[in-house]
Amino acid sequence: MTRETSSASEGIKSLLRENIRNIVPYSTARDDCKARMDIYLDANENPYPNGVNRYPSPHQPGLKSKLSVIRKIPAGNIFVGNGSDEPIDLVFRLFCPPGKSSMIQAVPTYGMYSVAAAINDVRVINVPLNPDFTLDAGLLLSKVEEDTRVIFLCSPNNPSGNLLDRGEILSILDNFSGITVVDEAYIDFAGSDSFAALIEKYPRLIVLQTMSKAWGMAGLRIGLAIADKLTVSVMSGVKYPYNVSVLNQARAEELLENPLAMYDRVREIRKERSRLASALSCLDRVVTVYPSDANFLLVKFRDKDRAFDELFGAGIIVRDRSSAYGCGDCLRITVGTPEENDRVISVLSGQEHTGFAVQKGPGKGRTASCFRKTGETAVSVRVDLDNFRKPEIATGLHFFNHMLEQIGFHGGIALDIVCFGDLAVDDHHSIEDVAIALGDCLKEALGDKAGIGRYGFCLPMDEAEAFVLMDLGGRIDFRWEVPLHGQTVGDVSSQMFSHFFKSLSEHLNCNLHVRAAGDNDHHIIEGVFKAFARALGQAVSRTPSGNVIPSSKGWL
Ligand code: PMP
Repeated sequence: MTRETSSASEGIKSLLRENIRNIVPYSTARDDCKARMDIYLDANENPYPNGVNRYPSPHQPGLKSKLSVIRKIPAGNIFVGNGSDEPIDLVFRLFCPPGKSSMIQAVPTYGMYSVAAAINDVRVINVPLNPDFTLDAGLLLSKVEEDTRVIFLCSPNNPSGNLLDRGEILSILDNFSGITVVDEAYIDFAGSDSFAALIEKYPRLIVLQTMSKAWGMAGLRIGLAIADKLTVSVMSGVKYPYNVSVLNQARAEELLENPLAMYDRVREIRKERSRLASALSCLDRVVTVYPSDANFLLVKFRDKDRAFDELFGAGIIVRDRSSAYGCGDCLRITVGTPEENDRVISVLSGQEHTGFAVQKGPGKGRTASCFRKTGETAVSVRVDLDNFRKPEIATGLHFFNHMLEQIGFHGGIALDIVCFGDLAVDDHHSIEDVAIALGDCLKEALGDKAGIGRYGFCLPMDEAEAFVLMDLGGRIDFRWEVPLHGQTVGDVSSQMFSHFFKSLSEHLNCNLHVRAAGDNDHHIIEGVFKAFARALGQAVSRTPSGNVIPSSKGWL
């Protein structure tokens, strides 16, 4: 292709595939009729309202007008896709004749460009970024061939994380006569100007953005192409007519109404990005933490497999990018919440991976978190005795999850437990180790026990009744009189319940007497867990006596 400087939509028309240029898009009766109607009998929908019985608007006007305000781009220049993966595919379908065209991408970069190219039978020309992942526009332009229709640039780039130099991108826009796509999926984390402001000056520029990252809407699948009006209207004519569902449009509009919440989250993520980067760069095992303008860090390790496995073993999944060009030995780590980043740092710094070690992190107030790893299980527990929140419980055992949730709900405490255990063997190690970790964690959170109620509880559960007597005074005496009828309750072995409470009481240093009876094992056990939870909630709650240690000895 030769250089051309036309900035009119006419130029774009000449770049479109011939069949696309001549296409007559699918239209609906509602497209053709601009007035508002009362009765819709045009689209063979079900007339009875349930919130989703009507097709969504194919043009998403509500969503586009909000995006237009936030992005300061006229709505006519915004295409809304099912994630930005949709406009990536559409770029090939609009501009690249299958089997007769090529695209250039600067590698390493986002993998979907080459996948979409392959699906559309478009040849991929890979041009390497410099070793520090900066862009050499001169090198890239020298690789343009006669059939090159599109150049894909990703800034900030995935997986390297860096913004590409603005001047180098401008040089490509000034010198390439085909379509240049600048994918700004991560632009909100960069704090730099978007290329979207330049679409009038460069009509062959297509800027991609997404609601999946900074805006926290990955589940809604909303991606944008910001481009010349002609490109937007042709994309709209080629896409599936109803590509964004009623529910997704409505929820996205709702979330967009509070962009300040998004800005706060982005600020927090950027702060955490710096903290995580500096903590990781202090580790011997880390060779390089590449500078990032995105919400992830590309990190080169001395032994990336070991780092990956240790994180994996602690229940943390990161992306191995070592096979990408220039990314040997690299893992890509998304910046998480402060607590999640703390976990990454402590696992990689070796504080959490010493075989049978227990780490306890007393936080503010009566909170504690604990990670316990053995050859059989990896258990994380987090408790907050003073603030209730819906429990997050995942042990791989459905019935056990349900029972542990009772402790959170009925204890009125925040309780999160994740256990990866050897369930292929049986449920024993998982249940025992959860009990141990939970006991340790509760004990840690209780601290000096000042002000606690100390005792508590009994309750009926349908025909069953459960008594749980508890003393957090520090002496251990476990008693269990809970006759069960079957070998299992749900997916848990019946004999594991007494073992669970025994292990828990030993690690919580608590005197625990459990008595229950009934006809139905599920009721009996659920009654026990609920009564235990109530007893615990009562025993850990602070009494009007304030900070007095509840013992005449003066300590517990
Ligand atoms: N572009 C880049 C650079 C990405 O990293 C991603 C997702 N990882 C996307 C586009 C696609 O995002 P979505 O389809 O969720 O909008």
